[in-house]
Amino acid sequence: MLHTVAGFDRIGEENAFAVLARANALAAEGRDIINLGIGQPDFPTPPHIVEAAVKALRDGHHGYTAATGIPELREVVANDIAMRTGVATDADHIMIVPGGKVTMYMAIMMFGEPGVEILYPDPGFPIYRSMIEFTGATPVPLPIREENGFAFAPEEVEALISDRTRLVIVNSPANPTGGVTPPEDVAKLAKILAARPDVAVMSDEIYGRMTYDGLPHVSLGAFPELRDQLILLDGFSKTYAMTGWRLGWSLWPKSLYDNARKLAVNAWSCVNAPAQYAGIAALTGPQDAVSEMVAAFDDRRRAVVDALNALPGVSCATPKGAFYAFPNIKATGWQAKPFADALLREAGVALIGGPDFGILGEGYVRVSYAAAKDRILEAMQRIDGFLRNRA
Ligand code: PLP
Repeated sequence: MLHTVAGFDRIGEENAFAVLARANALAAEGRDIINLGIGQPDFPTPPHIVEAAVKALRDGHHGYTAATGIPELREVVANDIAMRTGVATDADHIMIVPGGKVTMYMAIMMFGEPGVEILYPDPGFPIYRSMIEFTGATPVPLPIREENGFAFAPEEVEALISDRTRLVIVNSPANPTGGVTPPEDVAKLAKILAARPDVAVMSDEIYGRMTYDGLPHVSLGAFPELRDQLILLDGFSKTYAMTGWRLGWSLWPKSLYDNARKLAVNAWSCVNAPAQYAGIAALTGPQDAVSEMVAAFDDRRRAVVDALNALPGVSCATPKGAFYAFPNIKATGWQAKPFADALLREAGVALIGGPDFGILGEGYVRVSYAAAKDRILEAMQRIDGFLRNRA
């Protein structure tokens, strides 16, 4: 018998991929399945970005690059962060990584070990808790409540930070709730965190360009006093519809950068070269495609929220960012996961049960509206029929 490390007894998964597999299997049997489960834009990558990758291949960029990424892309990312946060940003603190997820992997590997605490949002992206558990660190959930607009509550974060806290993970705009922490609360959080310079902060801002109703996204990168403890996670997957390219970036404090570089050297050497050139085109080229995508998400957001609120026993707060709605289904009498399972089986609609995102997710489901509007509306009709038949 082989003996792997104990962490594998604790490591979790992302159920969205299991639901996708189940939905695809049902579709392969000939069922008409509407997938509102997976969190990826339903748009193609803008053509000028694709062309930049093709050109890079034709120009012979076939070899390894620096483990931290090509200098030109790091420079472009640093300029972009400086422009968006108003804080001077050095390209020597930027790592190019194979997708946003890799930054959380690196950060949690750097701080997680038995005896320490890592704070993470609940409900939140499931990989945070999974990786914390893998390292043997104690996961400490930060409650994200509907009553608080699914935003972070700075006082609650402050109360949960202890002497054993090594890392605090925040995420706004948020998966799975679509919550956006308002600017004044981001400022309060920054102050609380800056008062504990021994605690690292990983701010997952992968949906930072997707906010609605004029609500600004304020980055924790905008607070210079945090820069010596801040790991800023961002990437191309969601903003530029590039989930399959595996391309992201992160900003690191100077003191952690060499650790991050060493992890890259040990695990993936570098991000694939043509994708990095495509990244330059994405950040420096026209941003119209991004605005068009966000406008389409906004239109669907309004439609899906109206339709969800018309369902019996369902109420849905209006999400302020990302492309997820997180309706409350408590009054339907259903538990969230059996509801999601039955809905896929009986009505051919895939969505994700809230408990897949944390303990506080019970009573909610995540609906991704990164799908064609007519399909979303048809899904809502099917859910309506399902709930009325089962009433
Ligand atoms: N962070 C959050 C909050 C996400 O929702 C996701 C993807 O769903 C990621 C990070 C990972 O992004 P990537 O596909 O670039 O690894």
